Amino acid sequence: MTPPFPAVVFDLDGTLTVPGATRPAPGVAALVEALHARGVDLAVATSAGTATARRVLDDLGLRGCFASVAGRGVDGRYAGKAAVVGEALLGLGVTAAAPGTPMLGDSPADLEAARAHGLVPVGVGWGGTREGALWAAGATAVLRRPDELWSLGAS
Ligand SMILES: [Mg+2]
Repeated sequence: MTPPFPAVVFDLDGTLTVPGATRPAPGVAALVEALHARGVDLAVATSAGTATARRVLDDLGLRGCFASVAGRGVDGRYAGKAAVVGEALLGLGVTAAAPGTPMLGDSPADLEAARAHGLVPVGVGWGGTREGALWAAGATAVLRRPDELWSLGAS
């Protein structure tokens, strides 16, 4: 079975989790597990610290699904979301994403970073950002539920 996407990059807070909490957003764990089971390389790119991100993914039981977890780094330096996305891609072993690689995020900064790296910018509607702001940031799709991602893939 051909993977439906070459890879998928996820923001953490408000995308994998409920905004401001470490609970998984409804339906997200099932999506991540299904993508992983189909051989899709998965990465997290977050403005949180990398160690924090790893701990949250551990708590969600999803850490093993992600080949790459990139955050602002142990030194606490924040170099902007685009830099973190670049690091997430390096963690997947590539310097540039394959065409058709989506990045899911709940904030305009996620979508701008996605575009900067040639990723398909996909907004998520469960993170609390108004849908209009996601479209304005260049979203090519805004998901209302995680499983809607499948409709964007080659299946
Ligand atoms: Mg977020």
